[in-house]
Amino acid sequence: VGDQTEAGECLFYSSEMNQRASAHFRIESELRQAVSRNELRLFYQPKVSLRTGRIAGAEALLRWHHPEQGLLSPAQFVAVAEETRLILELGDWVLNEACRQLRAWADAGMVVPPVAVNLSARQVDERLPELVEKTLNRHRVPPSQLKLEITESLVMRNPEMVLPVLNQLVAMGLSIALDDFGTGYSSLAYLKRFPITTLKIDRAFVIGVPHEANDCAIAQAIVTMGKQLRQEIVAEGVESREQMAFLRELGCDQLQGYLFSKPLDADEYARWVAEDRRLPLQ
Ligand code: C2E
Ligand code: MG
Ligand code: MG
Ligand code: MG
Repeated sequence: VGDQTEAGECLFYSSEMNQRASAHFRIESELRQAVSRNELRLFYQPKVSLRTGRIAGAEALLRWHHPEQGLLSPAQFVAVAEETRLILELGDWVLNEACRQLRAWADAGMVVPPVAVNLSARQVDERLPELVEKTLNRHRVPPSQLKLEITESLVMRNPEMVLPVLNQLVAMGLSIALDDFGTGYSSLAYLKRFPITTLKIDRAFVIGVPHEANDCAIAQAIVTMGKQLRQEIVAEGVESREQMAFLRELGCDQLQGYLFSKPLDADEYARWVAEDRRLPLQ
């Protein structure tokens, strides 16, 4: 422990802050070029039906193939993009790429279950329905092939704006999943007015089942409520057979997690679908 002067501490903190700011700036400027340099990828993680053991859909998850750092996951860059309008560009890319891929699979004669894409809060505004419609039309993809995953914090931030936007998307034939359910602050009174087709139980609760009583109680409450509201229930982050058995017993409709598969690249995912893989539910 040294006798650091106030000035010294200031210097120390400010250089650390500078480093963080410059790392941040570097990601931001590299990310700006990532789209044009074709460095972004979508990976597809299967969602497995607990009724049939078959793949019921996939979640598209963004990856950045960084020229020096290799494959980066969203935790390493999405928050940076969300601070600027960059997230809008990334969001457009994701939407377009998912539809392009769906069209490519259809052209190859494949019947592929729906793909869900994640939306950031900034992407959801009055212009979203038109953007989605144009993108679907551009690739001649039926709206039933696309799901949108949103978070409860997004809904709660501005329910008066978000509600009509979601209603319009659902009227167009898309379905809406509420992601990371239970981790934010939501008013159930608001939620019941929203056209949510699917509830996704966050991994934070799935982790503790079947051993942690509180996680079990929360998972059960979410399933019970979702069923009453006629929503489809998906549990994410399922890693063990014990978790699967418990969530199945509760009445979840679909499971997503490493127990079945990590996110796959498009070709590998297509192979799973083409083989009509049945996943063991015991
Ligand atoms: P999310 O939407 O809740 O996605 C689920 C995350 O859990 C994914 O992480 C997935 O790889 C991971 N996961 C799935 N199964 C398991 C499991 O069994 N164990 C563990 N430990 N993890 C599992 P990923 O791909 O790193 O994405 C993290 C978050 O980044 C996503 O959470 C989503 O909020 C965001 N994200 C991903 N893609 C996009 C995108 O295209 N746009 C936007 N705005 N956000 C995205
Ligand atoms: Mg998601
Ligand atoms: Mg999630
Ligand atoms: Mg999550």
